[in-house]
Amino acid sequence: MASETTKTVASWQSGNPQGFARLDAEAFPVFEKGWVWLVGAGPGAPGLMSLLCYHAMQNCDVVVYDALVNPDILRWVRTGAELEYAGKRGGKPSPTQRDISLRLIELAQAGKRVLRLKGGDPFMFGRGGEESQMLAKAAVPFRIVPGITAGVGGLAYAGIPATHRDTNHSVIFLTGHDATGKMPVNVNWKAVALASPVIVMYMAVKNLGEIAAALLEGGRKGDDPVTIISNASLPQQQVMSSTLATCAAEVAKNEPPTPAIVVVGHASDWRDILDWYSPALKANPIG
Ligand code: SAH
Repeated sequence: MASETTKTVASWQSGNPQGFARLDAEAFPVFEKGWVWLVGAGPGAPGLMSLLCYHAMQNCDVVVYDALVNPDILRWVRTGAELEYAGKRGGKPSPTQRDISLRLIELAQAGKRVLRLKGGDPFMFGRGGEESQMLAKAAVPFRIVPGITAGVGGLAYAGIPATHRDTNHSVIFLTGHDATGKMPVNVNWKAVALASPVIVMYMAVKNLGEIAAALLEGGRKGDDPVTIISNASLPQQQVMSSTLATCAAEVAKNEPPTPAIVVVGHASDWRDILDWYSPALKANPIG
């Protein structure tokens, strides 16, 4: 029974397709012609994208999207808009970052409303910084729409709280490879090893053996848990548990699928009681 503190949702808010249109007009910025919106689509599960991302999909002329964007999300792009893929495609060389930025500038200068759609968050290891820098240089107006980054959302889907009052007060995010694909050398691994109870690493599976060795040398303990979350938030999500001492051998043996996020530290211990997604998937394979 309704009390004074509850109210019934108005008809336009539930089940009425006009609901979003009303929200568009009142709560969302206008997607102007000649603008580029750099939008994060989240780690994969369609439900994790933002309303502003949905709004952009409904109001753009062209979507330039990356390999990490779940194609299921693209079904919300408005009829008549164009889709341009900007990632690697079977064997063919992928366009360079410069090519992509120039293409965004070209489309915007042709008067299009350009949605640059990226996996996760555009400013988290997504080259959104470089792209917006080029747009700024070319005097193309742009907006950044943050998304849920794999290094936070992916952990949540594995039952690992990125921070916790009892065990982890700080988090480090880092990339496991540099522009050439090697382990980054300009990272102070000793400082990283000691600075934070939780280290979240993107693009780190390939160089994990070297990274683990650097962290151990820097003073991290061999029994520190290492969790690898593949395809986070998607029905095919897989989680591999190991330790700093064993992770290199485990990766060689089990070859965890990519994309994958690597988490070092005791935050992973919470999985024992907080892993909610595996049972949810068993109950409902859509996740
Ligand atoms: N901008 C993205 C990151 C791009 S870098 C973000 O904010 O999430 C690409 C790396 O992100 C991958 O190598 C992997 O480490 C991570 N990643 C992205 N999506 C992922 C997913 N669904 N599951 C696991 N890792 C993911």
